[in-house]
Amino acid sequence: MSALEDYLRDLIVQDGPLTLERYMGLALGHPTMGYYTTRDPFGAAGDFTTAPEISQMFGELIGLWAAETWVAMGAPPRLHLVEIGPGRGTLMQDALRAASVAPAFAQVIEAHLVETSPVLAQAQRDKLAAVSVPVSWHSAIETVPPGPAIVIANEFFDALPVRHYVSHAGAWRERLVGLDAQNRFTFGLSREVEPSIKVAAPEGSVIEISAVGQRIMATLAARLVEQGGAALIIDYGYVETALGETLQALRRHRFVDPLDCPGEADLTTHVDFAALARAARAAGAHVYGPVTQGALLTGLGIFERARALSRRADAAQIATLEAALLRLVSGQSGLEVEGGVVDGMGELFKAICVTAPGMAAPAGFEAQP
Ligand code: SAH
Repeated sequence: MSALEDYLRDLIVQDGPLTLERYMGLALGHPTMGYYTTRDPFGAAGDFTTAPEISQMFGELIGLWAAETWVAMGAPPRLHLVEIGPGRGTLMQDALRAASVAPAFAQVIEAHLVETSPVLAQAQRDKLAAVSVPVSWHSAIETVPPGPAIVIANEFFDALPVRHYVSHAGAWRERLVGLDAQNRFTFGLSREVEPSIKVAAPEGSVIEISAVGQRIMATLAARLVEQGGAALIIDYGYVETALGETLQALRRHRFVDPLDCPGEADLTTHVDFAALARAARAAGAHVYGPVTQGALLTGLGIFERARALSRRADAAQIATLEAALLRLVSGQSGLEVEGGVVDGMGELFKAICVTAPGMAAPAGFEAQP
């Protein structure tokens, strides 16, 4: 049993069932017992892995992308390079190393890491101890000082809590987490109906809404419109808002029940890119994309980078590079593990770029409206 389970049971007994959003928020982010606040979840020994942990090429290309984007912004004399949800700090480390080939850019950067997990903030401090630019940490985007910014968020929006509304007897009711007769967590529905949702849908249909993600996007977009800059958002998700739920729980690289062991499994959802884009546009920003991760990385030159790295690699390193390339760019990775084949990230993962209005299309998004 996880430490958080007793706490959540007590909360339900005292206050009644929790909204799914509150349950997820506590399971992931409770200050002392949440999933992210208590561990480093990445890698083979953890629960999942991410693109920057798969290959240094990912962060390097994003670092070079940032340098180009800074030029497109008119090369402002100071730039906040912000990462939201930086995990182990690997992407930022690789990006800063790659950016050092553009000294005019490297000299103007201040790095800002927006992170709520003390364990991961410490991992980021260790990793970035030797970098040559000033680095500071924030618990929310609001405290990053004003000024032009380039913001990166990789697999951040999928980690935010969502709300579910379920169609029942002709009305929409919010999904709640309560306790069954055996004191186990179970899903239920609110008694009150949600009057703001007007969609007609068959009994049992679910609408998933990431209100937290949309709020963060609105804040970010308003900042970019006011202060200048661009944000690159990469995540797994879908292009058009649709009915249906995508909540999943992952523990040690396997799917588990989202109500099992809260605080011990990673809870995520697929990102609704159309909803994020709407929130950004409503704040006055321009949105490029979505493009697939495969198209973005190909456009940014990942094949050329892999070839350059291969020239000074031995046979085993070349095999690792090729496997990483396939996994990052292709829809199928071909990589076999116990229990099946690992899906490639190239198609499922998508990117949008949110900019202040009037900026030229950023690298990788040239073919986009
Ligand atoms: N970008 C990293 C990590 C992705 S995991 C990578 O690609 O490897 C999600 C990250 O978001 C973790 O660092 C987690 O601690 C952080 N996080 C989750 N909720 C957050 C919030 N509300 N504000 C800031 N960071 C958050």
